[in-house]
Amino acid sequence: MPTLSATETAFVMVACQQAVLALGWGVGAVVLKLDRRSVVQWAGYALLTGASLVLFVASNQTRSAELRALGNLCVVAGMLLMQRGVRQFVGHVAPLWWYALLLAGVFALTWFGMAAQHGAMRVAVISGLLGLLCLATAWDVFTYARRKLQLRWGGALAAPLLLGAAVFLVRSGRAIAAPGTVVAEITANSALNAGSAVVFMVTALVFHLTLVALVGARLMAELRRLSRHDSLTELLNRRALDDLLRDEARRAIRANQPFSVLMIDADYFKGINDRFGHAAGDEALRHLAQILRTVMRDVDRVGRFGGEEFIVLLPGTSATEALNAAERVRDALLRRPWAWQGEVLRLTVSTGVAAWRGPHDEVDLLLKRADAAMYRAKSLGRDRFEFDQ
Ligand code: GH3
Ligand code: MG
Ligand code: MG
Repeated sequence: MPTLSATETAFVMVACQQAVLALGWGVGAVVLKLDRRSVVQWAGYALLTGASLVLFVASNQTRSAELRALGNLCVVAGMLLMQRGVRQFVGHVAPLWWYALLLAGVFALTWFGMAAQHGAMRVAVISGLLGLLCLATAWDVFTYARRKLQLRWGGALAAPLLLGAAVFLVRSGRAIAAPGTVVAEITANSALNAGSAVVFMVTALVFHLTLVALVGARLMAELRRLSRHDSLTELLNRRALDDLLRDEARRAIRANQPFSVLMIDADYFKGINDRFGHAAGDEALRHLAQILRTVMRDVDRVGRFGGEEFIVLLPGTSATEALNAAERVRDALLRRPWAWQGEVLRLTVSTGVAAWRGPHDEVDLLLKRADAAMYRAKSLGRDRFEFDQ
C-alpha cells in the first residue's frame, strides 16, 4: 500500500466524489430520462475528472511525467465534455470535430511539453483553455436562464462558472507573467500542491451543482408551463386564466383602465365528433385555437376554458373594441374553413362579450355576464356575438 500525503488523500477523495456524481448522472440519464445526451456527457466529465485526479496521484508517487500528461489530458477532455453537454442542453449544435481538434492539440502539447522546463507554457495553455471553456459555458448558462427560462437569478446560476473561469485564467496569467515561480512550484510538488487541490475540489463539486441547478430550473419551468397550459391546444388553461383575470382586475382598478372578455363556444360541436370521430373533433379544436391565436393581439390572453369553450382576455379594451375582436374571430373562421380528410367545413362559434365595470365589479360576475351573452348568441341562432350590458 503506498502511503499518501494529505494532498494526495484529498485528491483521491475528490476522485471518489466524482465517481459518485457520475453514478448520479447515470441514474438521471437511465431512470429519470433527463436530457440524455447532455447528462451522459456530464457523467463522462465527472469520470474523466476523477480519473485525472487518480493519475495525478499516481504520477506523483511514481514521478512519471507520462501519467501526469495523461492526467492533464483527462482534465481537458472532461471540461470539453462538460461544455459540450451544456451547449446541447441549451439547444446549440456542437460539432464534434472542433472538440477533437482541441483535444488533439492539448495531447500534442502535454506529450511534447512534458519536460519540466516547458511546465509554465503547459500550465499557461491548459489553464487558459479551461478558463475560456468556463467562460463560454457561463455565457451559455446565463443567456439560456435569462432568455429561455426567464429566470431573474440567471446570473447567479452562471456565477460559479465565472468564478472558475477567473481562477483558471489567473493561473494561466501567472504562468505567463512569472514562469519561473510556476515551474518551481511544479517541480517541487509535481503539480500536486494544495492550491490545485482546492481548485479541483471546489470547481469539481460546484460545476456539478450548477449543472444540477440548470436541469432543475428547466424542469421547474416545464412544470410551470404544463400546469398553466392545455395539452390539446397549447392555449392557457382555466387555472392560468383565473389567475390572469384576477391580476387584470387588480390592474384595471389601479390604473382605472377598461378590460373585456370574450367567452367563445363552438357551435354544434357534438355533431363534428359524431360525424367524423373524436380525433377529428380534437383537430377542429386545434384549428379553432390557432385561429384565435392569430386573430388576437400579443397582449391578449387566449385560453381554453374547458371542452369546446374558449376565453379571451383583452387588457385595456373597451366594450366596443371587444365587439370588434369578436367580429374578427367570426371573419377569420369564415376565411379559414377547416378541412378534414378531403371535406371542407365551416366552423362557427357563438361569442359572449362582457366588459369590466369598474372597482365595484367582480371577476366571477364578469364571467357570468359573458356566459349569459354567449347563451343569448346561441339562442338567437349561433354564428354570432352578443354583448351583455
Ligand atoms: P352548441 O352549439 O349548443 O354549443 O352545441 P354543441 O354540440 O357544441 O354543445 P354540447 O355542449 O352539446 O357538446 C359539446 C361537445 O364538445 C361534446 C363533447 O364531446 C365535445 N368536446 C368537448 N371537449 C372535447 C375535446 O377535448 N375533444 C373532442 N373531440 N370533443 C370535445
Ligand atoms: Mg359548450
Ligand atoms: Mg358548443
